[in-house]
Amino acid sequence: MAGVSYPYPYEAKVSQTLFDRASLVTPGGVNSPVRAFRAVGGTPRFMVSGTGPYLTDADGREYVDLVCSWGPMILGHAHPAVVEAIQAAVTRGTSFGTPGEGEVALAEEIVARIAPVEQVRLVSSGTEATMSAIRLARGFTGRAKIVKFAGCYHGHVDALLAAAGSGLATFALPDTPGVTGAQAGDTIVLPYNDLEAVRAAFAAHPGEIACVITEAAPGNMGVVTPGEGFNQGLADLCRANGALYISDEVMTGFRTSRAGWYGVDGVAPDLMTFGKVMGGGFPAAAFGGRADVMGHLAPVGPVYQAGTLSGNPIATAAGLAQLRLLDEAAYEKVDAVSSQIQGLVTEALTKEGVAHRLQTASNMFSVFFTEGEVRNYDDAKKQEAFRFNGFFHSMLAQGVYLPPSAFESWFVSTSHDDKAIERIAAALPAAARAAAEATA
Ligand SMILES: *Cc1c(COP(=O)(O)O)cnc(C)c1O
Repeated sequence: MAGVSYPYPYEAKVSQTLFDRASLVTPGGVNSPVRAFRAVGGTPRFMVSGTGPYLTDADGREYVDLVCSWGPMILGHAHPAVVEAIQAAVTRGTSFGTPGEGEVALAEEIVARIAPVEQVRLVSSGTEATMSAIRLARGFTGRAKIVKFAGCYHGHVDALLAAAGSGLATFALPDTPGVTGAQAGDTIVLPYNDLEAVRAAFAAHPGEIACVITEAAPGNMGVVTPGEGFNQGLADLCRANGALYISDEVMTGFRTSRAGWYGVDGVAPDLMTFGKVMGGGFPAAAFGGRADVMGHLAPVGPVYQAGTLSGNPIATAAGLAQLRLLDEAAYEKVDAVSSQIQGLVTEALTKEGVAHRLQTASNMFSVFFTEGEVRNYDDAKKQEAFRFNGFFHSMLAQGVYLPPSAFESWFVSTSHDDKAIERIAAALPAAARAAAEATA
């Protein structure tokens, strides 16, 4: 087939050797579970380098990257201006444990882009950002309970690692051993896109709910778009009940528009969390929002929060360089690349008669192997995920790197050019056939 770069199937010998070594010294051979390919099977590819839209693995094979480090690499890999900023910062020293101008500039950039963010505190991971925002909301309101939605991921914060049984206002059981009933017991897990359930939870627990936290537009159960008025409804219900509305924009922030998902729906949260794109490929994240709420943080207020490497000069230089390149033209480019790829995927799957549904949140998108609309986690779980495995491995063998799970968003960058898109187009027919032929 024209344009197909690699024989299918092929072996990943060096990656397998590295994975064997890794598995001896690291649980499951990986430092974050999804990287282990458990959902799709096979050998995780150990990457050695990246340039623009391409990754090269340890066996010397090149892939068009549709993961982009799970979102951060929105300018592609090793963007020259970002690399230059990093190199300049490194030569000045790597960590001072004092304030520095880079942190101020990055905070100013965030505040300038996102109107509801009056003040911001930098941290090192999205997990820290949501954990700290929850603590701050509890400290500010003097309340214990929090509301989250099933299928929304907010990092591996103990209290947020709880998914729902179904039903209204179900109190969470911990989702993982190691999280105690006490840690998850104040978490109320509700079905996504269900305002009635939120209303009922507030009615059942008057004066007890500190905050509602939600992904601004969920991407961690596959992409599920908030229904018309859902986010505004959450903001209104929170205000009416004296709770804070926390919008988790770790994934969507600075990706779905200049001002993230806030730039799309304009719903103003009390607190917001950021990560991924704002770090430029380094560990930098943030939480921020109303100045009167942020004023409760130490050292001005009583709510403690800290970090040895928070505002690290290399991370802030990388993030700032990346954000400064992300103008309107850059987002137009990412959006255009995204809709082009969406069109190709739809065309290939339709041609093979594969039931599917492509859902988007701006330039984030994912493919569900199911017919109906996916509005929440229960809908997402009903898809024929086994079809994704065949699809994934066919794409991989043909040099296209997809997220190794049917429940993840795909990510593109400004660097995805015609050549990269042609390779995706050439790989899709065989992958769609593999999806059609897959059996449970
Ligand atoms: C990735 C993600 C997090 C966690 O960020 P880490 O940097 O991996 O800790 C939190 N919330 C959302 C919405 C995310 O996508």
